[in-house]
Amino acid sequence: MLDLSSAKTLKAMMAAHGIRPQHRLGQNFLTDARVLEGIVEAAQIGSEDLVLEIGPGLGTLTQQLARVAGKVLAIELDRNLVEILRKTLLEMHPNVELIHGDAGRIDLHSLLAERLPAGAKAKVAANLPYYITTPLIMRLLEEQLPLDTIVVMVQKEVADRMVAPPGGKDYGALSVAVQYYTEPRIAVKVSRGAFLPPPEVDSAVVAMKIREVPPVDAPRKDFFRVVKAAFGQRRKALGNALSGGLSMDKAIVQEALSQAQIDSSRRGETLSLEEFSVLTRKIIETGSENPPEAGNK
Ligand code: SAM
Repeated sequence: MLDLSSAKTLKAMMAAHGIRPQHRLGQNFLTDARVLEGIVEAAQIGSEDLVLEIGPGLGTLTQQLARVAGKVLAIELDRNLVEILRKTLLEMHPNVELIHGDAGRIDLHSLLAERLPAGAKAKVAANLPYYITTPLIMRLLEEQLPLDTIVVMVQKEVADRMVAPPGGKDYGALSVAVQYYTEPRIAVKVSRGAFLPPPEVDSAVVAMKIREVPPVDAPRKDFFRVVKAAFGQRRKALGNALSGGLSMDKAIVQEALSQAQIDSSRRGETLSLEEFSVLTRKIIETGSENPPEAGNK
């Protein structure tokens, strides 16, 4: 049986099929068995699981997933690779379903709903294409798909942002979103040498357990509107950033901040999820007590 985790096999496959990895599609293929095991272990995949893989590439991770999962649904954008995978992988692993498409656009809700038993949840395991890492992660989180775990390989710098606590340079809107929807942890650190060809930066595998309920209590859309405004102008103090970003009267924002017991000279990157939540509730209350005058925005 072809061992797709061996660099030698991958090189031979690329030569046989005339493949030149495409940088614009983030094609850096994994060749490290320890990392592959780490991804499968972090996702805790069992024989009942449906696993969604984004970007199977030459099938390296797909093969490991197919060995333990009930079914693997793999979405690949590069038509060339899809055709090669149909010849190399499907024969060995009939529990893999390949879809040619763009994971950023395809209707993931329907794809999962059509394949999952009622009430069941899928897992995501992927070595993500780096040019769209953040939008893809945000899509997986915000669309509230039937998922219980997401395990993804991302650039180390993005992994650091995903798990960052408040107060440091890594903490931002991505940290808040990831920590609102999931309990994240860095499962494996991965050096650039684990890929063919090696990318310019190191990577890490982040395992996210999806929360059943959010960790804080504020209406979700308003909460993220406040977070976006707070980080929209990172260098500004909160009072100014919020009144600008939310198009709200400065006095109202100041009142909400003072009721939330948050100093208006602080910056967004120092606020915990709990503080963002209290602030959101106070902004809603103060805003509704002081509706904008007719003609004002
Ligand atoms: N899973 C393989 C591995 O670990 O070796 C390949 C990972 S490689 C980092 C990313 C893969 O995602 C490539 O095969 C690339 O063609 C594919 N890809 C890029 N953009 C995509 C998109 N929008 N939707 C689905 N696949 C995409």
